[in-house]
Formats: sequence, C-alpha cells, structure tokens
Amino acid sequence: MDLKELYRDVILDHNRKPRNFGRLEGAGGGGDLRHADGHNPLCGDRLSVYVRMNGERVEDIRFEGSGCAISTASASLMTEAVKGKERAAVRRLFDEVHTLLTRYDAAPDAALGKLAALSGVREFPARVKCATLSWHTLNAALERGAATVSTE
Ligand code: ZN
Repeated sequence: MDLKELYRDVILDHNRKPRNFGRLEGAGGGGDLRHADGHNPLCGDRLSVYVRMNGERVEDIRFEGSGCAISTASASLMTEAVKGKERAAVRRLFDEVHTLLTRYDAAPDAALGKLAALSGVREFPARVKCATLSWHTLNAALERGAATVSTE
C-alpha cells in the first residue's frame, strides 16, 4: 500500500467514525470548560469544539458539527492529537499542521503521527480551509474561551 492510499484510508476512517464526537457536558467536571464554534463558508462546514482545561493542559476535548469528510476527519484527528497536551504544545502542533497543509514541499514531521494524513489535502488548495477549520476553532476556544470563528 502506498503512502497516499494509507493517508486516504485514515481520512475515510476518521470521517466514518469520528473520534471524540459529541458535546462535553460542563458543570461539575472540575477544570475550566471552553467552547468555540467555527464556520467555513466556502464549503459549508460547521463545527463546535469543547475543551476542558486543567491549568495549561487539555484534559478533555470533543467536537460536534457537520461538514465535509476532510473537515470531520481533520477535527477527529486533532482531538486525538491534542488531548493531554499543554497549550504551548498544541500551538506548536497547529503550526506544524499549517505548514504541512500550505507548503507543498514540507515533509511530514514524525511528531505529527496520524496528522500526516492531512498532507494529501494540499493537492486540493480549495480544501485547505476545511482541514484547518477545527484548528482555528480550537485556537479560539483556547484563547478567548467562547467565540465564533470563520475561515473568511
Ligand atoms: Zn469542507
């Protein structure tokens, strides 16, 4: 199986069975619960990201919404990748994903793990915003606590 097929299978799998899908119910769980909504008008993707922080650490994260396969798979992969990470590590990961999606010659860093599957998206520049929507939405939740972001 070549790498492209492998990447495509990861995207299809995470679209079909999104991980950490649903709402995070807030009260009483302890920690600091945040939420933001994201919208990509170019494609019509909409999603909400819920994060429970424990100090600087992402203790739990879930998302819900409806969008294309790329936006759903990207959000699912993101929740797996950032759970348990410190806020600074999440920001570094976002930078690496952004580079991967926008620089055609960027080789996936080993630290990206399954997120490397998103590299296939850069062959379709119109879909890059589908892949980054969940990350922008997570960023908004981490920075401001509650917000709506649009990729436009
Ligand atoms: Zn989309």
